[in-house]
Amino acid sequence: MAGQVKDREAFQRLSFLYQAAHCVLAQDPENQALARFYCHTERTVARRLVLRRDPSVKRTLCRGCSSLLLPGLTCTQRQRRCRGQRWTVQTCLTCQRSQRFLNDPAHVLWGDLPQAQLGGQPGEKSETTAALAKHSPPHPTPPR
Ligand SMILES: [Zn+2]
Repeated sequence: MAGQVKDREAFQRLSFLYQAAHCVLAQDPENQALARFYCHTERTVARRLVLRRDPSVKRTLCRGCSSLLLPGLTCTQRQRRCRGQRWTVQTCLTCQRSQRFLNDPAHVLWGDLPQAQLGGQPGEKSETTAALAKHSPPHPTPPR
């Protein structure tokens, strides 16, 4: 696959909005409403065009209120133990919604597994790629 990235302009817009939110908070940490507006717009665009964002981006946005989550500023980050596993619990300070992520260095996200990559498999490659392409758009990392 590779080659031309589909929806390049949309990804550039997502990237711009995400970076703009970071800039706003870096310049004026009080101006969280504007950063939230940028992130909300970013999420709306991504949802409308069904674009997949990188987990590193997705994990820094609140699922409840679209705030940009920066530990110590707009969210708290705590380490917890549950069922013998370590979790990072992130709580948004605006809407108190929390998300938790498995904190295990050996854990690999499904999107990073070789079988998750289009055209990654030898053998029945063309068939699988065609079948997958019908259902889901390619999900490249958004340009930064
Ligand atoms: Zn929130």
